[in-house]
Amino acid sequence: MNRLLIFLIPLMVMCQPANEEVATNEQQLPNFVIIFCDDLGYGDLSSFGNPTIMTPHLDQMAVEGQKWTQFYVADPVCTPSRAALMTGRYPIRSGMTSKKRAVLFPDSGSGLQSEEVTIAEVLKQKDYATATIGKWHLGHLPQYLPMAQGFDSYYGIPYSNDMDAARGMWPYIHEHKTDPAFLSEIKNYNVPLMENEAIIERPADQTTITRRYSDRAVDYIKEHQDKPFFLYLAHSLPHIPLFASDEFVGSSKRGLYGDVLQEIDDGVGKILKTLKELNLAENTIVLFTSDNGPWKAFDTHGGSAGPLRAGKGTTFEGGQRVPTIFWGPGNVKPGVVTEMGSTLDVIHTFASLAGAQIPQDRKMDGYDLSAVLKGTGKSPRNSFYYWAFGELHAVRSGPWKLHVQQRVPITYNLIKELEQPELYQIEADISEHYDVAGAQEEVVKKLQKMIDAHQLDVVGSTPDQLDIRIKD
Ligand code: MG
Repeated sequence: MNRLLIFLIPLMVMCQPANEEVATNEQQLPNFVIIFCDDLGYGDLSSFGNPTIMTPHLDQMAVEGQKWTQFYVADPVCTPSRAALMTGRYPIRSGMTSKKRAVLFPDSGSGLQSEEVTIAEVLKQKDYATATIGKWHLGHLPQYLPMAQGFDSYYGIPYSNDMDAARGMWPYIHEHKTDPAFLSEIKNYNVPLMENEAIIERPADQTTITRRYSDRAVDYIKEHQDKPFFLYLAHSLPHIPLFASDEFVGSSKRGLYGDVLQEIDDGVGKILKTLKELNLAENTIVLFTSDNGPWKAFDTHGGSAGPLRAGKGTTFEGGQRVPTIFWGPGNVKPGVVTEMGSTLDVIHTFASLAGAQIPQDRKMDGYDLSAVLKGTGKSPRNSFYYWAFGELHAVRSGPWKLHVQQRVPITYNLIKELEQPELYQIEADISEHYDVAGAQEEVVKKLQKMIDAHQLDVVGSTPDQLDIRIKD
């Protein structure tokens, strides 16, 4: 008997930790939070160099986490950028970019197709609780809302906060410059606030919307602390028109745009504080970034791209390189990452961290960045394709970026057909000032080949969904 025990006890000891480890891993699937801003520029956070917008909570998040300085969105406008974040695919593949219409509008009759697989659907393999709070902009009809794409619940506005404008879409650009009061009236923007499929407020009170989104996010985390969750918090702001609550109006030297950001920053602080107080910080990864660069057509109501050229709607760096912070005390090694990453990589990265599978039956465009987050490896991303308005405009390979055509800044609906491709070494020339194509013919040839191959690779993609109207 004693002999048997002597034999068995070590076996039991050997087995026990293994079993416990399996059980523990099951319980400790990481939580994910994405805080996504709208039209926030590369130069708009104090930790990214802004001198008059104070974002202390985001700055602290950057110190405790990873600040990424070369992180891209897959398209320089809202809808396609969001489609790419959700699916890990260039929006040309999902039909969510168009030569005819930049984004989805209130009269749009389509949205992200149900065949597309989102981050939420991937995490549902592991039974995550999932929620969208904020701006969706991937289809406002019931069959395209978040619940049709793997989310359990939705609270927010279904498209941009300037849509359903009382006096039409574009005339107010001039009014903004001559009549700031016009932009401060929420009734001029009849955008609905929705809870799941129901409209609960119209017009949405945008003066309190940032605070309400953040408060909802805090409540959601408290309510779901006992099981793995994925929270997608997509702020409607600082997209124009700008609104902040009374507590924040006048709080920054930057004007209303800065006030808006400082209120968003305050919400980030509350979310991180909640995660720490609930002892979830070690097991949660928070990503903060933007859907595209600043909307410069709106002067000081638009943001800043810092040292980057141009902004929203263009495939210059200012349109697609966005300020990005990953935070997760138990999973993310603090530091500054100067390698490339993209919102295209988020679905792969989260799937990897959760032990879930990304779709295997279609072309994906992302990489798994989890080794970079953990500090154990380099970014696998060495190239990036710059799509805009349904067309491929540029490619980056290592430090080189080749433009084959361009959108004209400000009036970005105009395409500038380049007589010759332009080449920039954007790690040495961050502002894309110095075209070196003439001196680097081999590099131009190599990048032109990448452009041609990528064009062929997207042939047969889902047709344009942005140009489908409700009445069609
Ligand atoms: Mg946007």
